[in-house]
Amino acid sequence: MTAYSRNKPISFDNHWMPFTANQDFAQNPRLVQSAKGMHYLTPEGEEILDMTAGLWCCNLGHGRDEIADAVHGQFKELDFAPSFNFGHPLSFELSERLAKMLPGDLNNLFFTNSGSESADTAIKIAYAYHDAKGDTGRKRIISRQRAYHGVNFCGVSLGGLTANRRAFGQWLPVDHLNSTHDLSRNSFTIGQPEYGGADMANELENLIAFHDASTIAAVIVEPIAGAGGVLLPPKGYLKRLREICDQHGILLIFDEVITGFGRTGKAFAAETFGVVPDIMTMAKGITSATVPMGAVACRDFIKEAVFSTSQGIEFFHGYTYSAHPLACAASLAALDIYDRENLWDRASGPVGDKLQEALQSLKDLPRVIDARGMAFIGAIEFEPLEGKPGAIGAALLKECWNQGIMIRGLGDAIAVSPPLIMEEAHIERFVDGFRKAVKVVLD
Ligand code: PLP
Repeated sequence: MTAYSRNKPISFDNHWMPFTANQDFAQNPRLVQSAKGMHYLTPEGEEILDMTAGLWCCNLGHGRDEIADAVHGQFKELDFAPSFNFGHPLSFELSERLAKMLPGDLNNLFFTNSGSESADTAIKIAYAYHDAKGDTGRKRIISRQRAYHGVNFCGVSLGGLTANRRAFGQWLPVDHLNSTHDLSRNSFTIGQPEYGGADMANELENLIAFHDASTIAAVIVEPIAGAGGVLLPPKGYLKRLREICDQHGILLIFDEVITGFGRTGKAFAAETFGVVPDIMTMAKGITSATVPMGAVACRDFIKEAVFSTSQGIEFFHGYTYSAHPLACAASLAALDIYDRENLWDRASGPVGDKLQEALQSLKDLPRVIDARGMAFIGAIEFEPLEGKPGAIGAALLKECWNQGIMIRGLGDAIAVSPPLIMEEAHIERFVDGFRKAVKVVLD
């Protein structure tokens, strides 16, 4: 297979691609060369409908001139400033703006460059808080099976996806809640599942009794587990986790790397589900993925405790590119667009409803055992093929590409998380192409 860039043939020998079957890709490359709005364009000029907002991240769609102008202007004015011991105004402006958007008193922002770095940072903040209080034994974290918190050793330790754990093991004291999803009672649900929330949350009490609360720093959950298969929290689940954490002095962390910035129909899933965590991680939609950026927000009592113990450096942590001026400029421009175009409301409105109805309508396809989701995120799950568990998602990703659609394959499920600008016509196009792809793959 030969492909071209700027009229020169491309070699597939040197770029080792992440989470990709590299050798297979070199035989059947899926290249995108440009993008605008809801579409990518291949080098051959074919249109690919972006039903995944890139990787759950281009929430504003592609090619936003306003962000390009803001980044360009910032580059000319100040290309870089260290944020260890020095500051630049945009980082403070962005922190203030995010603090106003975030629920409760999640008023304190620490900047990173990715979701994985945000997970590391959140756990370090939890440790710093307990240490400041003299609770130095609290180092264990409780996470969940099927969780994804990125790929650094912290994220892998927290994570609950078997393949990732098998590859790199566990490097922090983490235990995992087992129950994630009761498909037998909740299949084909739009929105929060009805059953199992309290039982699932009460498993936390067993783990606390087992390890003792005095050893546990935090519980971390994605409000909707994304990479694990778009698993929505059953009714009452997050509220009950909040109660149990409060009873035992354990911090509650929400990983909103996917759910933040409108995906669930509000700015953050914490608002959608009515539960405020103590620490929240974010990334992706914060700049609509135009410039890498992540952030961690924490509540006032955490910052106050950590700051109270030191007059010098309070927190021995940071990244060269924390609060990079170009990322701050991109984020401020992105937040302007979210506001002006009212995009959270759009996600919770009729187009989001239409997307969910469309996913439910695919129930008649062969082997479909579930369709689920809310607002602008959803999944369809298939009964695995005999002897080939986990194969359907990857096969559908490839065949959907042939049909001009980008989706995400997650084991035997597929996920969609389109940009918040999607129109009804795009949903129709998706349904049509997806039906054809399933026919090719499963016939
Ligand atoms: N947390 C969640 C919930 C994610 O979905 C992801 C990535 O998809 C991450 C963390 C890691 O983010 P990154 O790939 O930016 O490191």
